[in-house]
Amino acid sequence: MRVDDTYGRPLRNLRVSVTDRCNLRCQYCMPEEDYVWLPREEILHFEEIGVLADVFVDLGVDKIRLTGGEPLLRRDLPRLIRLLAAKERLRDLAITTNGVLLGEQARGLKDAGLHRVTVSLDTLRPARFAALTRRQTHAQVLEGIAAVARAGFTETKLDTVVIRGVNDDELVDLIEFGRRVAAEVRFIEYMDVGGATRWSMDQVVSRDEMLAILEARYGRIEPVAEETTAPADRYRLPDATVFGIISSTTAPFCAECDRSRLTADGVWYLCLYAPRGTDLRGPLRRGAGREELAELIRGRWLERADRGAEERLVLRERAPLVQIARLKEDPHLEMHTRGG
Ligand code: SAM
Ligand code: SF4
Ligand code: SF4
Repeated sequence: MRVDDTYGRPLRNLRVSVTDRCNLRCQYCMPEEDYVWLPREEILHFEEIGVLADVFVDLGVDKIRLTGGEPLLRRDLPRLIRLLAAKERLRDLAITTNGVLLGEQARGLKDAGLHRVTVSLDTLRPARFAALTRRQTHAQVLEGIAAVARAGFTETKLDTVVIRGVNDDELVDLIEFGRRVAAEVRFIEYMDVGGATRWSMDQVVSRDEMLAILEARYGRIEPVAEETTAPADRYRLPDATVFGIISSTTAPFCAECDRSRLTADGVWYLCLYAPRGTDLRGPLRRGAGREELAELIRGRWLERADRGAEERLVLRERAPLVQIARLKEDPHLEMHTRGG
């Protein structure tokens, strides 16, 4: 079944956050000292995620990405992957991870049936990594990336949030690194999402600036023409290396957005910027059947009119989306709860 929202965007892509916990403290995502965590008893069990996944698949979802927080912190994750991989109508089952635990887990993820891995990698410099993430685990991330290839994964991606004065001098190094490890690099514009309490527009390196930096080094860059709703615009260097840019801040792609997000405690969000979501855990635990859940989800998607990033674009004074006090009241507003 295909369900379209008010702009004709289908419900197709679901990001499932499996935990709000994280073993890094990236300055652009979790810059504070303390966080309010979701109560453990409210975290969805794998079987509950499985039931919701079935309902979403019935409504047209054919891509699921596991995220967090750090998804590899969720105990026994391969069991969830096995459960989801068995759903034949899912064309794509991927994960976004910071890579710290990939060295020990990549093989198990592959054996469980995971299709693809995206690793977030903002820098190749250990001291910079430590300053950016407030943890000393850079070597583990690099080892994790190597383990992904060894486990037999292909189509691996490396995602880099580019921040002015932090890592904007590493674009070329990261492209070269991606080439060496056979992974496609995607540069992400720094976004003013919930949790990015230190965001400011002057730290954003725009897609155009990134292209100018890379053209100065490599020469003419060609856009790759493709029909897709993926967030990254892809480009080809003269030597045929392909990379992506996710220009969520300066050139958002809401018009094509078929993505929604399920938090680890079962709240479903229609947009990264949406202030409120729909509680699916409550009905599920009260015994709602698949049809009732499907009606609830379908109804919400039919009414969806979210274009969060486009609405932010026209603001004259652009500041962090949510203030710290409000984030503490409702951790669902955090990027690490909602899943990137
Ligand atoms: N912990 C995992 C990781 O870092 O890959 C998965 C969750 S994380 C929230 C998902 C993605 O969101 C990461 O690639 C991260 O870089 C990105 N992200 C977090 N905060 C961001 C921000 N303010 N702007 C742009 N991307 C951001
Ligand atoms: Fe960094 Fe991902 Fe953890 Fe956020 S959730 S602090 S982006 S590793
Ligand atoms: Fe989709 Fe919202 Fe992001 Fe726009 S801002 S691309 S509608 S999630």
